Amino acid sequence: RGTVVLAATPIGNAGDASDRLKALLEAADIVAAEDTRRLFDLANRLGVRVGGQVVAYHDHNERGRADGLLDRVETGATVLVVSDAGMPTINDPGLAIVRRAIERGLPVTCAPGPSAVLDALALSGLPTDRFCYEGFLPRRHAERVQHLRALQAERRTMVFYETPHRIADAMDDLLEAFGPDRPMALCRELTKEYEEIRRGPVARIRQGVIDDAPRGEIVLVVGGASDEEAAAATPTVLDVDALARLAVARADEA
Ligand code: SAM
Repeated sequence: RGTVVLAATPIGNAGDASDRLKALLEAADIVAAEDTRRLFDLANRLGVRVGGQVVAYHDHNERGRADGLLDRVETGATVLVVSDAGMPTINDPGLAIVRRAIERGLPVTCAPGPSAVLDALALSGLPTDRFCYEGFLPRRHAERVQHLRALQAERRTMVFYETPHRIADAMDDLLEAFGPDRPMALCRELTKEYEEIRRGPVARIRQGVIDDAPRGEIVLVVGGASDEEAAAATPTVLDVDALARLAVARADEA
């Protein structure tokens, strides 16, 4: 039997590619890449030749492709899974093949490396002993507000991914949910030439976003609630499923 290997790729700085990543790119029988063109760009930058077969493996086909790739693992192939940047499965494809590999009892391992979550968390200066990764905030305002309100009493440091075109709206909603004084960090273009970390209370970071719109890739890190903030946060999480079940049950009774 072969193995599935999830491999992290640089999030900006090609120098962060590990020797192991380079060796795997050269030696893997199959490379399942989120975007095959970007894979070849990366290989060029790293000065390595991709030795095996390259297949597209992205959000839209990962479930359909997982079993076919695992059939190859069963007959001895090493299947390398890479996304466009950072760690596969972290807001990137990869979970489907990991799950199926576990279900089928096939080996899966990881060649770890860069991921924007940990880079931003470590640079934020906020507590790192407990944190939660929240991925991208919902795109729509109403959902984003509801989502953030549900986090008002969260004690752990929170990490969010964000895009430049939504950052101003997201900052308005962070201000509303967490108030002006909650400490946070806006981390942008990590590991790249224009890396920048803006640290301060939510209100100041929001004003900075208005005065000098951040470009490029962004991670927001927000401090968790203090004792007082957690106690003051009003419970706003509605268990919509429970309410729906109740409504159905009542309709059935009637
Ligand atoms: N798998 C990746 C990882 O492990 O970080 C994340 C992929 S997700 C589709 C892309 C998002 O990650 C970006 O929108 C941004 O929020 C964040 N990101 C990736 N690279 C970054 C960088 N160099 N600087 C800041 N944020 C980055």
